[in-house]
Amino acid sequence: MMIVVGLTGGIGSGKTTVANMFHKLGVPIYIADLEAKKLMTSSKIIKRKLIQLFGEEAYTDGKLNKPFLSGKIYNDKKLLLKMNAIVHPKVRSHFNRWLKKQNTPYVIKEAAILFENGGYHECDYVITVIASEEDKIKRVILRDNSSAKKVKAIMNTQWSDAEKVKLSHFVINNDNLSETENQVKIIHQKILKLI
Ligand code: ATP
Repeated sequence: MMIVVGLTGGIGSGKTTVANMFHKLGVPIYIADLEAKKLMTSSKIIKRKLIQLFGEEAYTDGKLNKPFLSGKIYNDKKLLLKMNAIVHPKVRSHFNRWLKKQNTPYVIKEAAILFENGGYHECDYVITVIASEEDKIKRVILRDNSSAKKVKAIMNTQWSDAEKVKLSHFVINNDNLSETENQVKIIHQKILKLI
């Protein structure tokens, strides 16, 4: 069985940045949030269920209406959970099909809410990317043109770094990018030795 290494971290911590560093070392990466977004447009079943939940406005011209959806789930934990319950099972089976096609010692599965939704139970090892709250907020505002208020609202739906670190096999402190790259190389070697 292929070894699955989960890669997680709070919003703006640098998960995708770190995942790309593993990719450079030859590790296949599965970006769950990106695949989820793709499936929300391509899967007829997801589409039907999301329209049931949010109404026709969930899609415009067949495309996912992201601003509408974020507006709806923003500050509504129940609705967010309902949306996740529709999307996550499909992402999981899509990931499992993808996994069968890989032939490296291990793969990386990046997901923002790996702990929150119990996905970490299906990983052999978990890496958590951490960064200071100040850095995370600054980076997301810069990347998405978002606001501190919005970033904090999302942070409030996620586990704290301390809780995640307790259950992680490896922790990457993503402060300085070149140091992060060194940490990635060290962890890569450690994982290869473990398996
Ligand atoms: P999200 O959960 O929102 O998808 P993420 O954890 O995947 O975020 P990234 O998208 O990798 O985070 O990083 C957030 C932003 O911060 C990106 O624009 C990225 O280029 C930048 N960034 C990542 N790491 C650093 C760093 N060490 N120093 C400065 N900028 C960084």
